[in-house]
Amino acid sequence: MPSFVITEKCDGCKALDKTACQYICPNDLMVLEKESNKAMNRAPEMCWECYNCVKICPTQAIEVRGYADFMPLGGVVQPLRSSDAIMWSVKFRDGQVKRFKFPTRTTPEGSADPDAGFETASDDLKSPLLRTEPASTGLDDLQKI
Ligand code: SF4
Ligand code: SF4
Repeated sequence: MPSFVITEKCDGCKALDKTACQYICPNDLMVLEKESNKAMNRAPEMCWECYNCVKICPTQAIEVRGYADFMPLGGVVQPLRSSDAIMWSVKFRDGQVKRFKFPTRTTPEGSADPDAGFETASDDLKSPLLRTEPASTGLDDLQKI
C-alpha cells in the first residue's frame, strides 16, 4: 500500500529547503511540486511501504492506500502520532472506520532505558545470546508454571 498525499492538507512543509517526507524517504520517492508547493509520491510502484513519510508528515497529509484504491475509492490507512502512542485509523471501502491505538514508549519522552530494566548478561561478542538474555526471554518464569 503506497503513500498518497492529500494535497488539501499538504503545506509543502512551509517552503523549507527539504520537506519532511523528502528527508525521511529511504527510496527518494517524495518530490515537491514547486508551482503548487505540494508533495507527491513520484513512483508509487517503487514504494517500499515503510510508512516513514506517513508518520513524519506534520499535517497528517499522507495516507496509505492500496494500489486498487490509489484513486480515491475508499480504502485508507492513516496514523496519528502523539508523544507516547500512535493511533491508526483504518477506513474500509464500505465506509466502516476502525481505530487502533498502540503505545510507542515505555519511558518518558526524551529518555531511554537500553536494558529495559534487565541485567546485561554478557558483553561477550561471541556469545549467541542477545544483550539482555537469558533474563528477558522469561524462560525462568515459564519453567515455574
Ligand atoms: S511532509 Fe507532509 S506537509 Fe510536508 S511536504 Fe510532505 S506531505 Fe506536505
Ligand atoms: S512509504 Fe516509505 S518508501 Fe514509500 S514514499 Fe513513504 S517513505 Fe518513501
